[in-house]
Amino acid sequence: MPLLVMKFGGTSVADLDRIRNAAAKVKAEVERGYDVIVIVSAMSGKTNELVGWVNETSPLYDAREYDAVVSSGENVTAGLMALTLQEMDIPARSWQGWQVPIQTTSQHGAARFVDIPRTNLDAKFAEGFKVAVIAGFQGVSPEGRITTLGRGGSDTTAVAFAAAFGAERCDIYTDVDGIYTTDPRITSKARKLDKISFEEMLELASLGAKVLQTRSVELAMRYKVRLRVLSSFDETDETSGTLVCDEDEIMESKVVSGVAYSREEAKLTLVTVEDKPGIAAAIFGPLADAGVNVDMIVQNISEKAQDSDKPVTDMTFSCPVDQVARARKALEAARDAGQIRYEALEIDEDAAKVSVVGIGMRSHAGVAARMFRALAADGVNIKVIATSEIKISVLIDRKYMELAVQALHDAFELDKAG
Ligand code: ADP
Ligand code: ASP
Ligand code: MG
Repeated sequence: MPLLVMKFGGTSVADLDRIRNAAAKVKAEVERGYDVIVIVSAMSGKTNELVGWVNETSPLYDAREYDAVVSSGENVTAGLMALTLQEMDIPARSWQGWQVPIQTTSQHGAARFVDIPRTNLDAKFAEGFKVAVIAGFQGVSPEGRITTLGRGGSDTTAVAFAAAFGAERCDIYTDVDGIYTTDPRITSKARKLDKISFEEMLELASLGAKVLQTRSVELAMRYKVRLRVLSSFDETDETSGTLVCDEDEIMESKVVSGVAYSREEAKLTLVTVEDKPGIAAAIFGPLADAGVNVDMIVQNISEKAQDSDKPVTDMTFSCPVDQVARARKALEAARDAGQIRYEALEIDEDAAKVSVVGIGMRSHAGVAARMFRALAADGVNIKVIATSEIKISVLIDRKYMELAVQALHDAFELDKAG
């Protein structure tokens, strides 16, 4: 039997009516002759509520219990989806992660897949079951504890099942009808793309476009999964949505294909650190050990340089706002232990990161200049810049984030097909 994976995100299973609507889409594929693996998220808002309860109960929580709590939202929707399908005369049952079993590492809150054995599901399909409904976002560790894959992780569950079961396609049903040149909530000029390359989607996702979890794109690229994003609210067929695929399947030739943003960023500066070999390692080692995801880094001449007899520098880096407390603790501990010295730690928690992405940048000069001109024209000051082969990111004041996204979308004429 040909097999499809269909994933429904939180808004697509937000209430019983929406679950029925999603189930009808599953039924249509079964009637077309497919066996289907359905991956469900928790009802929208549920995971946030569960995370809130954990934080309120225990600010420095035991990550194993965090996972036990926050994974539960998906269990509810998996059961309800299976029941809804049964009501439609489709033979279906639900599976929690441990029942498959979805084997993961034991990094609670950010676990990675180790293996998804096919035996149990294959046996059910052989018995005549048409649909296996899987609770997304979760797995089980070698120690037998429930794990979760990080926020947005049901996308990754979907792609991992598509790879493990050789699915014809992995369809990600969500509240937008595809992948756009930027988040359509930020500008109505955002344009839906028919196709986007794995590389570009990987960059957009890792730079903040939460339409797909980064790891899901990574897995799809590695295992050549045909990954599609489409709306759960519209009528859809094989041509709907946006396909994430290899670069050579794409006809568009724009230099920049998308703009991404990450709203909750912080900029930290260690003022007057010694400028000597090993200093970066002494700073970023403890941050890494504390689990701080340091992103952009700049080392710059310290204002205090001329007053000092020894060479000194300032070290600036960015990280997500919710990791600032951890970063501060790690740096203060390193200072108290005599590993690093600094005069002050300046923290700016009102930053956001805006990035332009495009594989065309590999062969075109001038993208950075165009980007900086567009931001300057709107009076947006740039705090930090970072580049790679196919992206340029800037850290700016959060209050200018929407404006910057719109300005860059206009500057690179992303509303027009290339
Ligand atoms: P789900 O709950 O279905 O997983 P998400 O909220 O995680 O849905 O992702 C869908 C959202 O991603 C959209 O509503 C949209 O606001 C946002 N988004 C951000 N960037 C993009 C983009 N480039 N294209 C489409 N949607 C985007
Ligand atoms: N429910 C989880 C979250 O909100 C996983 C997901 O929806 O993908 O992050
Ligand atoms: Mg999501």
